[in-house]
Amino acid sequence: MEVKVLKNILNANNQIAEQNRRLLAEKSILAVNVMSSPGAGKTTLMLRTAEELEDKARIAVIEGDVSSSLDTEKLVQAGVTAIQINTDGGCHLDAGMVNSALQNLPLDELDIVFIENVGNLICPGEFELGEHLKVVISSTPEGEDKPHKYPLLFTIADAIVVNKTDLIPHVSFDMDSFSRVAKGLNKRAALFEVCGITGEGIGEWGAWIMDNLGKMRAEAGNK
Ligand code: MG
Ligand code: ZN
Repeated sequence: MEVKVLKNILNANNQIAEQNRRLLAEKSILAVNVMSSPGAGKTTLMLRTAEELEDKARIAVIEGDVSSSLDTEKLVQAGVTAIQINTDGGCHLDAGMVNSALQNLPLDELDIVFIENVGNLICPGEFELGEHLKVVISSTPEGEDKPHKYPLLFTIADAIVVNKTDLIPHVSFDMDSFSRVAKGLNKRAALFEVCGITGEGIGEWGAWIMDNLGKMRAEAGNK
């Protein structure tokens, strides 16, 4: 019985995700679902990414948090178009929440929407949002064992971003071991080593996003 209930929830979610997918396609917008544990540096990476893509693409950020609008305030203060979703205790975003946020964004003036999911390495991986790309961020102070302990997110990711590389000398983080386990789970994912504070690796990461925007639009043009 419980399994059936969960299936119904996921089916309903997938239908709305499909609506989101159609809306994004109509507006030719690339959507990126950004997932990580709390404190991995998602919002700082969003700020850096907005800077990096400033002259290349028009972006917006949908901020998912259990409560508060601190992250959205940070982004808006930096001049980034951002909208807050509070899940009121919910530990992940679902397609309906993202649909409401999309309805409140100036979609005709956007090229890319980043969806910053609630900080959680578990269930965000189970909810399709209608996004084109799934990205998981793992920061070095969390240790190199995260792909091993939370394999789902790393298995479904299109990109795996190791953040806070500046802290490697101060924390126990074995990049080789991390890469080996991550690649063992998912050979297809792009792997980036970045630092949201110093800007290390942000150029490569931004180029990958722009490359995917180009690919998405070329595929849509061929249909
Ligand atoms: Mg945040
Ligand atoms: Zn959840």
